[in-house]
Amino acid sequence: MPQSSEQSAFRPSPENTPMPLAQARARIVDAITPIADTERVALQNALHRVLAERVIAGVDVPGADNSSMDGYGYRAGDVDADGAALDVVGESLAGHPFAGRVGAGQCVRIMTGAVVPDGVDTVVMQENTRAAGERVVIEKRPASGSNIRAAGEDLRAGTIVLAPGHYLRPADIAVLASVGVAKVSVVRRPRVAFFSTGDELRPVDGPAGQPLAPGEIYDSNRYGLAALISELGMEGVDLGVVGDSPAALREAFQKAAVCDAVVTSGGVSVGAADFVLDVLGEQGTVDFWRVAIKPGKPLAFGTLGHARFFGLPGNPVSTAVTFIQMVRPALVRMAGATPAEPIRLALPTLADLRKSPGRENFLRARLVNRDGRAAVEPVDHQGSGVMRSMSRADCFIVLPAAQNDVPAGEIVPVEPFAQTIWGQPEG
Ligand code: AMP
Ligand code: MG
Repeated sequence: MPQSSEQSAFRPSPENTPMPLAQARARIVDAITPIADTERVALQNALHRVLAERVIAGVDVPGADNSSMDGYGYRAGDVDADGAALDVVGESLAGHPFAGRVGAGQCVRIMTGAVVPDGVDTVVMQENTRAAGERVVIEKRPASGSNIRAAGEDLRAGTIVLAPGHYLRPADIAVLASVGVAKVSVVRRPRVAFFSTGDELRPVDGPAGQPLAPGEIYDSNRYGLAALISELGMEGVDLGVVGDSPAALREAFQKAAVCDAVVTSGGVSVGAADFVLDVLGEQGTVDFWRVAIKPGKPLAFGTLGHARFFGLPGNPVSTAVTFIQMVRPALVRMAGATPAEPIRLALPTLADLRKSPGRENFLRARLVNRDGRAAVEPVDHQGSGVMRSMSRADCFIVLPAAQNDVPAGEIVPVEPFAQTIWGQPEG
């Protein structure tokens, strides 16, 4: 049963049925308010930002009919058979158009990108011609109209180049430059606070040369989370390692509450040192706790001040899987864009898959080429503490809650997790 957000003193209880992932993700994404603040940035700084304005082309691209080949431009009507000869009356180079008009029986030497002179309707590539003094012989004539790129064939002045909500990739930056745009309005980047909880955790960038004390482990989640956040082009605010005490958590929560989102790892289960839910209930609200997925069941979602709060489980694979499945789409929406719908491929598994009914499973796997066809191969260790499984994987095999074991060769749903993040806006 989902917890209502009015309930502030949230207590984990066995009645709290884990929520199906699709429902949890929809609920989280629906709860996100996109950031309304915008800023103008130079095109050079706009990569991986979300466009906040509709950009209209001020010019045609290309601006004039131009040649797509190095060759000769002429009028097709003058060449009725291979072997015809034309007078070369000038040349048109990129940036240096031919000023005159090309008449009957005439041609110009023309280079790729050069403006097609008045009178010319066809370009023959140089390789299909032969120079003969002041004349050129068209040895193999192309179809009328060949090798000319029409003005405005890429973009017409007055049409929409990109819509608000578009996540800017390298090609988008080039398209914007092609219409002469030097600055764009983009959405302010989400500020995402993150910290690890756990008395056993040691940062890797602390004093050098100290061996781990008995029972200590390196805090790997915080570095992984920082990378997942900055990969989205967002601003991570690193609040370090926080010990397993309500007092330490309260202090960290207060610092985090001024951000747009807060992502924590660990301390969100039912262990004796798990206080994240208690402190979230005290200082913010718990919307729901627990999702019916493996790995990653004990996820908590709520609010803290103005921020949306994501309490992720501490097992490193659970942290990564829940981030990708639920936090990432939420942050994409917060950033002013549309999260891409997860893509599911149907591929044969190369190995048997172990599965007991209950929760939806996200097995770590790799896309492979098997005899020229795509297939999927699970990585060999599926423990939720084995981060190397995630490091070696590029996709999840997603097995529905009710599924049992799957024999090798069966077709299974496969979700690549790195390729599809940002959806396209409408318009
Ligand atoms: P917890 O969710 O706090 O009960 O932690 C579950 C498991 O994940 C425990 O084995 C923790 O030691 C481990 N763990 C928790 N936080 C981290 C972290 N930041 N880096 C690596 N392992 C962690
Ligand atoms: Mg812990």
